[in-house]
Amino acid sequence: MSECIFCQIIAGDIPSNRVAESDAAYAFTDINPHAPVHVLVVPKIHVESADHLTTEQASVMGDMILLAQEVADVSGIRESGYRLIMNVGPDAWMSVPHLHLHVLGGQRLAGHLG
Ligand code: 5GP
Ligand code: ZN
Repeated sequence: MSECIFCQIIAGDIPSNRVAESDAAYAFTDINPHAPVHVLVVPKIHVESADHLTTEQASVMGDMILLAQEVADVSGIRESGYRLIMNVGPDAWMSVPHLHLHVLGGQRLAGHLG
């Protein structure tokens, strides 16, 4: 069995609250939500982080964004908008070393970057 938490979630060995799924990616609610909608989108293949993505694996990023669109749709936040966050490495507080996209929304989000 893989030691990676998200690989175990994808395999169904650790329970998760499934939101959406495609051939390449899986989406489930974050266990510690920071917004009314907080969903994680992960590729079904193990990639350690965005910094480890190879040219051959590059299409999984597109697959993740397409699934994030579906997450926004089924969560009812596609019109109101949402934020996609990807933490990479220690200074970004990345805590699970399996590539993941945070989909956050359902409220006006703090931290306007403009
Ligand atoms: P990071 O900090 O690495 O960008 O995000 C990891 C996220 O995974 C955190 O928001 C954390 O709450 C979430 N998380 C960690 N373990 C689990 C788990 O076992 N189940 C679920 N659903 N989320 C998890
Ligand atoms: Zn993994």
